[in-house]
Amino acid sequence: MAKPVVAIVGRPNVGKSTLFNRLIGARKAIVEDIPGVTRDRIYDNSEWRGREFIVIDTGGIRFDEGDIFASEIKMQAELAIEEADVIIFVVDNKTGITAEDEQVAEMLRRSQKPVIVAANKVEDFSKHISYYEFYQLGLGDPIPVSAMHGMNTDELLDAVVAKFPPQPEKEEEEDRIKIAIVGRPNVGKSSLVNAFLGEKRVIVSDVPGTTRDAIDTPFTYAGRQYTLIDTAGIRRKSRIKDATERYSVIRALRSIDRADVVLIMIDATEGVTEQDKKIAGYVHEQAKANIIVVNKWDLVKKDEHTMNIYDERIREELKFLAYSPILYVSAVTKQRVFKILDIVDFVVEQHNRRITTAELNRVVNEAIMLNPLPGGGGKKVKILYTTQVRTAPPTFVFFANHPEGVHFSYLRYLENVLRKNFGFEGTPIRLLVRQNE
Ligand code: GDP
Ligand code: GDP
Repeated sequence: MAKPVVAIVGRPNVGKSTLFNRLIGARKAIVEDIPGVTRDRIYDNSEWRGREFIVIDTGGIRFDEGDIFASEIKMQAELAIEEADVIIFVVDNKTGITAEDEQVAEMLRRSQKPVIVAANKVEDFSKHISYYEFYQLGLGDPIPVSAMHGMNTDELLDAVVAKFPPQPEKEEEEDRIKIAIVGRPNVGKSSLVNAFLGEKRVIVSDVPGTTRDAIDTPFTYAGRQYTLIDTAGIRRKSRIKDATERYSVIRALRSIDRADVVLIMIDATEGVTEQDKKIAGYVHEQAKANIIVVNKWDLVKKDEHTMNIYDERIREELKFLAYSPILYVSAVTKQRVFKILDIVDFVVEQHNRRITTAELNRVVNEAIMLNPLPGGGGKKVKILYTTQVRTAPPTFVFFANHPEGVHFSYLRYLENVLRKNFGFEGTPIRLLVRQNE
């Protein structure tokens, strides 16, 4: 089920990004460092009183065209209206209402989306606070906060969560594999959807009365069941005129969250772009099974080396996806399009794979013997035991006498060993070190 989306809008300098960081808060304490990925901190997961949701800082979104300030804010607000379940409209208690605030308020009122007005930069909660002028915006009770000091943000979050759509009944267990197709505008996502769904052997299922989002399309191919995530969104090109890649990124991130497998589409005629890297980085970070799908292969002039050259280039650009299969397809000629589904099945299997403890320890012990752990500060560091604690993604715990002595580079080595022995193509794996009891 899709998580509710909360968008933060408002003029520059009112405190949107401060509030954003406050709302995503402690979750970011543990950040995995992925080389080659620039973090795009405009979108993140959060949780309040047991409800998970997504926060978007629309202030961090740059639209290519129209550098005029006012229109940028309008586009951000439009984006929020289109994408969000609840909008936090941040205003500055120090400056009061401005003409721009009024313009944005008017758009928000017309949208009829749930909006919470956050009157930010309230300094002293012990005194009588005068934030009442913000009632004039016609968007209900403003909530005074200080994003910087984290004051009253609890109350703000309570108000936000109260506006969420009701939590759906627990979704019935599904055997269907959920596939997200992500990539830049014009890479061929909707062509690929059409290639899948327009095929005679594909039966588009009509599943009435379920809680499934109507935006997804369940289908059956060769007796196997899949769901294409956000087919409606892929086909419906954005209503926002100056829709840029940023916009499509948000859509992509939402789909990735819900997917079992992500098809990362690259345009063969353009190669890997910065935007592709960001999306791919997010897929990896969210530990989703994935396949790199290079589309428009029909447009490439080929000889017997072309595929290798492409492979090399893509591996260089997307280093952290060294484990992902690369497939060269054409959504238009349908070359290898159904091969994608075979590989989908395969990577899902890898994602859910479990290695027996005996086999795992045999492989790990042998690896340690071949390449012993470096000593740490005079201490003899030992890994005594390894176990797989979960699947999807496969996660391994190494129990060591001095966990801090097992370095990142050594874990890299162990990851390579595990991959060499067990495969795990198309799935991230996680390696953790714990204190031996
Ligand atoms: P944005 O442009 O809306 O994203 O605004 P920022 O989050 O970058 O904040 C703009 C400025 O306001 C920064 O200097 C912040 O430190 C400051 N600021 C944010 N929240 C508060 C607050 O609660 N109180 C005060 N006094 N300053 C704040
Ligand atoms: P989306 O924005 O990612 O959904 O991209 P579309 O599916 O709308 O495709 C954008 C353009 O690329 C359209 O004109 C398609 O006909 C074209 N296109 C998509 N896939 C292919 C392909 O495999 N080969 C060729 N030659 N053109 C393609």
